[in-house]
Parts: sequence; structure tokens; C-alpha cells
Amino acid sequence: RAIVRDLDLLEAKNPVLKPQPSSIIDPTVFEKRFLKKIRELGEGHFGKVELCRYDPRGDKTGELVAVKSLKPESREEQGNNLSTEIEILKALYHDNIVKYKGICLDESGQAVKLIMEYLPLGSLKEYLPKYKSKTSLATLLSYATQICMGMEYLGTKNYIHRDLAARNVLLENERTVKIGDFGLTKSIKENDGYYVVKDENESPVFWYAPECLTQCKFYLSSDVWSFGVTLYELITYCDSSKSPMHLFLSMIGPTQGQMTVMRLVGALKEGKRLPRPEGCPEPVRNLLLMFSICEAIVNLQHVV
Ligand code: ADP
Ligand code: MG
Repeated sequence: RAIVRDLDLLEAKNPVLKPQPSSIIDPTVFEKRFLKKIRELGEGHFGKVELCRYDPRGDKTGELVAVKSLKPESREEQGNNLSTEIEILKALYHDNIVKYKGICLDESGQAVKLIMEYLPLGSLKEYLPKYKSKTSLATLLSYATQICMGMEYLGTKNYIHRDLAARNVLLENERTVKIGDFGLTKSIKENDGYYVVKDENESPVFWYAPECLTQCKFYLSSDVWSFGVTLYELITYCDSSKSPMHLFLSMIGPTQGQMTVMRLVGALKEGKRLPRPEGCPEPVRNLLLMFSICEAIVNLQHVV
């Protein structure tokens, strides 16, 4: 008993010896000083993503993570955007959606970085042109199915992605893909089944359905159109000379700003569509035109 009392006394004198309540160690809060940048992974309109090692022990044994922050020029207007993206990704759990790991705070306690799992093969846009010869049509269709599954899940959560494109689909390995980049994602819960786009300047217009372009209205099904454009990118192995932007621009002629959207809408209204990619079987082409659903592609995989 004397020993216990001595120990208690010792503990009272030295608060550091007291076991810390576990709640203060939050594994989803990453300390900036332990995040060591290895290289840049990529960047889009607003954000940039870096490969870092989170190395609290400082002996290079820490895990690799992908860290997204806003580009300095978009920090002011887009400050809240990253917080929204963080909140959305944090609540999503699906095999085909990139995994949230946590956040990194600045001095004022605001979340300035989004920490995600690192997917070593990068996006389909980078991967497919390089590994064309080892990627069969069946594999491409399997990727398409997985994108559908991730998107279907997103839809059940009442979210529209609004930026579904090959550049935003990441590979975990040669067989598995995951949807990333929820920077433009919106909830349709508070609305009438659609979201009204407020800032259309940075919209990926060549991936957008006509209603998004003409009325700035975005429905769950508008993502299905973008899925069709993404499927087109997959079948062309993301060959940049055949990219949706490249082909639509050659269809409508060189334009700028609002003129681009007007001419694009005009072309779509006339029934113009992306061409059938080389080597694309007729059934897949029909699917592309229908912007069809998951089951149809799963069936096709058995045929190919
Ligand atoms: P932005 O909103 O700026 O477009 P993204 O989230 O799309 O940012 O990321 C930009 C690029 O960084 C992607 O196209 C991809 O190449 C790369 N990237 C993003 N997240 C990861 C990740 N978790 N693992 C590996 N590469 C990634
Ligand atoms: Mg992106």
C-alpha cells in the first residue's frame, strides 16, 4: 500500500506521468511538422496533390499519404471548398472511392490539407496511355463497372460528383479503380433533385450534359452523361489527340469563353457526338450513346 501511495504522490507531482486520455490523440489529425513532401502528384483547377511521408518518428518508416491543398491563387475564394470536400469525403466509404485519412490544421485550427490514401498508379489519364498494351478491353470495361459502382453509391448519398473524368479516377492497382476529386461535388438534398451551378467559369464543359450547359442545372443523371464521356476516354486509352476537348473543339472550331458553351450546345442539339473510338465494338458504342447503366456493362464483360 505504501508503494501505491508513493506512486500516487509521484504522479500528482509529475502530471506528465499520468496516462493521457485517449481522446486527445486523434489519428485523423496529421501534424504539419511530420508531413515530409516527396513529390508532386498532380494538380487541377483549384488544388494540388502531393505525395508525402507522415513520419512522426523521423526515421522514414512512416506511411505514404496523398495530401491535397488549394493552390495559393485559389485559396481566398475557394477556402471553404476544401472544407466541403473534406466533409464529403470523410462520410464516404466504398471500395471504389478514394479513402479519407484525415486533415492537417494550420495555426488557427482551420483545416488546410486533406489527407488521403496514396494510390501509386495515379489517374487513368496518366496510366492508360503508358500501359495501353497490357490493358485489354475487358479490363477497361471492368474499370467502367467499378466507376459505376462508386457513382451509384455516391448517388445513394444524394451527391452529384460534377467532375467525373478519367483525370479524376485513380488506380489502386492494375485491377482496381477509385473515384477521386470531390472538389465540385454537391448535395442535392436541400434542392429539388438538382443543383444550380453558381460559378460556371471552371466547369469541365466537354464532360457536361446539355441541361448543365443551357440551364446550369445539375441532376444525378447529369453525372451519367459525364460517365459516358469518361467511358469514351477509357476506350481511347486517354489518347490526348482524341480527348473530348480536342474532338469537340475540332467539331465547333476554335472558340473562347461563353462562345465555347454556346457552340457546344448547338453541336449537341444537332445530335453531334464524340465519334466511335477505334477498336470500340458496336455494343460498347451503343452503350456510349445511351450513357447506360452498370448492369449492361457487367453483361458485356462476359461477352468480350
Ligand atoms: P484537383 O481538384 O486540383 O483536380 P485532384 O484531387 O483531381 O485535384 O488531384 C489532382 C491529380 O493528383 C489527380 O489527377 C491525380 O493525378 C493526382 N492524385 C490525386 N489524388 C491522388 C491519390 N490519392 N493518389 C495518387 N495520386 C493522386
Ligand atoms: Mg481533378
